[in-house]
Amino acid sequence: MSYDNDNIFARILRGDLPCHKVYEDADTFAFLDIMPRSDGHLLVIPKTPARNLLDASPAQMAAVMATVQKLSRAAMQAFGADGVTLQQFNEAAGGQEVFHLHFHVLPRKDGQRMRPPGTMADSDLLAGQAEKLRAVLA
Ligand code: 5GP
Repeated sequence: MSYDNDNIFARILRGDLPCHKVYEDADTFAFLDIMPRSDGHLLVIPKTPARNLLDASPAQMAAVMATVQKLSRAAMQAFGADGVTLQQFNEAAGGQEVFHLHFHVLPRKDGQRMRPPGTMADSDLLAGQAEKLRAVLA
């Protein structure tokens, strides 16, 4: 399986599609999931091409994991969360839908289930959540 340069996250990285950006450094980029399963549901991706964990380099994995940890801590604070769930899917059989390596970071509250997938969030709501996260990271 090869990397498709026109996948949705590659287009977001190029600035061809909008997103609610939360964080970026030299190697990684983080933004809000458009169909969040919890408040503050983030996606963390490498800036360089990788289809998923199966073809990613150790350096890409290390950079992405460092950002996942940083943003998990920020999300705990920004959303007054009690915990964080990470999700990561590989190939269609593994549940992957967008073929650019990404980790889901889901801040969770005690006793609160994740929402079912597939419902688009209001853009203004996501803008406010991204702002909250950026404020914690500043
Ligand atoms: P996965 O590949 O991990 O199964 O799912 C891809 C994730 O990307 C889903 O949670 C979906 O809501 C999210 N997603 C799909 N298209 C877009 C988009 O255009 N913008 C953003 N921010 N998220 C997206």
